Amino acid sequence: MPICQHCGYKWVWIEAFLKMFTFKKKLRCPSCDSSQYVSKKSRKLLGLFIFISLLFVPLVSFGVPKGYVLAFEIIVYALVIILMPFIYKLSNKDEPMW
Ligand SMILES: [Zn+2]
Repeated sequence: MPICQHCGYKWVWIEAFLKMFTFKKKLRCPSCDSSQYVSKKSRKLLGLFIFISLLFVPLVSFGVPKGYVLAFEIIVYALVIILMPFIYKLSNKDEPMW
């Protein structure tokens, strides 16, 4: 779970989950209201998950029914969304991606 780097407040799942969906890089701590940023490592990890899930799309050309691949993709994305708050780490300042 994300922990505020300013006050040490541990975010609960629903707080992290809702804030993730604002798609802002800057997140406000529910406890101390300071600006927190999603760490570079967490963003890279998210990119990696998306990349891995996309690797299964070419299975369609190997005769795997499209419906199966689509269902699989939906399950993977749902899992990533549910698990994201657990792997999110916060940082006090905005870190450049590279
Ligand atoms: Zn805080």
